[in-house]
Amino acid sequence: MNSIKKDLFVMSHIKKSDFPNDFIWGTATAAYQIEGAWDKDGKGESIWDRFCHEEGNILNNDTGDIACDHYHRWEEDLDLLKKYNIENYRLSIAWARIYPKGTGEINPAGVDFYNNLIDGMIERGITPWITIYHWDLPQALQDRGGWTNREIVNWFKDYTATLIKLFGDRVKNWMIYNEPSVQAWLGYGLGFNAPGLKGEENYLKALHHINLSIAEGYRVAKAMLPDGYIGSSYTLVPTPPESDADRDVADNMFGFWNTNHFDPLFKGEYPKAIREQISQYMKDGDHELIKVDLDFVGIQHYSTIYAKMDNKNGLFGTFFGKPPADVKLTDIGWEINGSYFGDIISWFSDNYNLKQKNQDIIITENGAAFFDELNESGECDDQHRIDYLEEYLLSVKNCIDNNIPLKGYFIWSLLDNFEWAEGYKMRFGLVHVDYKSLVRTPKKSIKWFKGFLE
Ligand code: BGC
Repeated sequence: MNSIKKDLFVMSHIKKSDFPNDFIWGTATAAYQIEGAWDKDGKGESIWDRFCHEEGNILNNDTGDIACDHYHRWEEDLDLLKKYNIENYRLSIAWARIYPKGTGEINPAGVDFYNNLIDGMIERGITPWITIYHWDLPQALQDRGGWTNREIVNWFKDYTATLIKLFGDRVKNWMIYNEPSVQAWLGYGLGFNAPGLKGEENYLKALHHINLSIAEGYRVAKAMLPDGYIGSSYTLVPTPPESDADRDVADNMFGFWNTNHFDPLFKGEYPKAIREQISQYMKDGDHELIKVDLDFVGIQHYSTIYAKMDNKNGLFGTFFGKPPADVKLTDIGWEINGSYFGDIISWFSDNYNLKQKNQDIIITENGAAFFDELNESGECDDQHRIDYLEEYLLSVKNCIDNNIPLKGYFIWSLLDNFEWAEGYKMRFGLVHVDYKSLVRTPKKSIKWFKGFLE
C-alpha cells in the first residue's frame, strides 16, 4: 500500500469490523511487572527479585517489590477489564509463588491467589490466557545453573504439568514461554536482564535448554489438556544494520531475535551461524525434540532493532545500533513504523510456510511506551498511543487480507508497570498507575479501545 493510501486509511480509522468476526482481542501483563508482594505468603525469591535488589542493575534502582500491587488489587484490575469490554486477558504465573524453591513443595497460598484470579475472570466473563513462564525463574533454580543447566528441562516440565493440573479445568489458552530471545540474549548473553550472566557459552546453553523446554513443555501440556489451545510467544523483529559497516553482524542480530528460535521450532535445526558452536551442548535426538507443532505461535513486536558491530560490548561482535536520525520514535527510543511490522510478519509466514500449514498466529504483545502524565483535570491524553496502535493494526489487517493466518491481537499492556531494566520510567499501559498512591486512572487509549471493540 502506498503511503498516501495508508494515511487515508488511518485517518478514516481502523475498525473492529475490518477484522474477522472471531478475531481475538485482549490485553496483556506479566506477574513480576504488576504483582508486587515479592515475598508475601510464602512466595520464593526469583531471579528478578535478586537482580533488582542488587544496586546498579535497574534504572533508579527501582524494584518490582510493590509494582502495581496487583496481588492485593486484582479485583479492581479485573473490574477495569470488564468495564472496558476487554474479554481476553493474558497474564503470567510467578513460578516461585507456586514452587518457592522451583521444585518440591507447593505453596498453597500461591495456588489460592491464582485460583481466585482465574475464578474472578470467569465470573466477569473474561477469558484467561496464561503464560507459564515470563522470565521470573526461582532463584533456587538459578543457584543450580538456571537455564544453563540441562536439568531445567525436567524442572520446567514438572512446573508446567503442575499448572495444567491445578488450573487446566478452567483455563484452555496457554503460552508456554514468553520471548525466549530476551531471556537467552539479554539475561544470559549480555547480562542486562536477570540473572545478569554474560558470554557466548552461557547464551548458547540457555538458548538450547529454553528451546528444548518450550517443545517439551508443549508436549506435556497438550497430553494433559488435549482440548487446550497451547502455544508459545516469541519476538519477531527486523534487524537492519545501523550502517554499511555493520552489514556483517545484522544476521547475528536477526538470529538472536528470530531464527535462533524459529528455525529449531519449525525445522529442528539451528541457523548456520551458530550450528557448530551449539552442537557441543546438544545430545542425540535433540533435533527431533526442539521441533514441535504448536497450536498457535504468539508473536510480539514493538519496533525495528538496528545492529551494530561491537566486539567490546556485543555478543558474537553484535550489539544494539541506533535508528536513523529522521524516524518517529516512542519515548523509549523505539522506532515507530507499522509497515515494517507487516513486512516482518510476511517474511515469517513465507519463510516457514505458515499459510500452507495453516499455522495459527496470535499477536500476543504490541504496544508503545511514553512518559504519560495526568493533566490538571486528572486525565491522561495518550493520543500518541492510539496513533501507534492504529498504525500497527492497519498492518495486521493487511496481513489478514493477504491470507496470513492471524487470529488475535493483545495490547501490551493493561497497566503501566515495571519495565524491567528501565524501571518505572517507561509507561506502556492503557491505564495510568500512580506508583505512590497506586491509584489507577484509565487513559484515553483504553476508552478508544472500548469504542473500537464495540
Ligand atoms: C515483554 C514485556 C515487556 C515489553 C516491552 C516484551 O519484551 O514480554 O514484558 O514489558 O516487551 O518491553
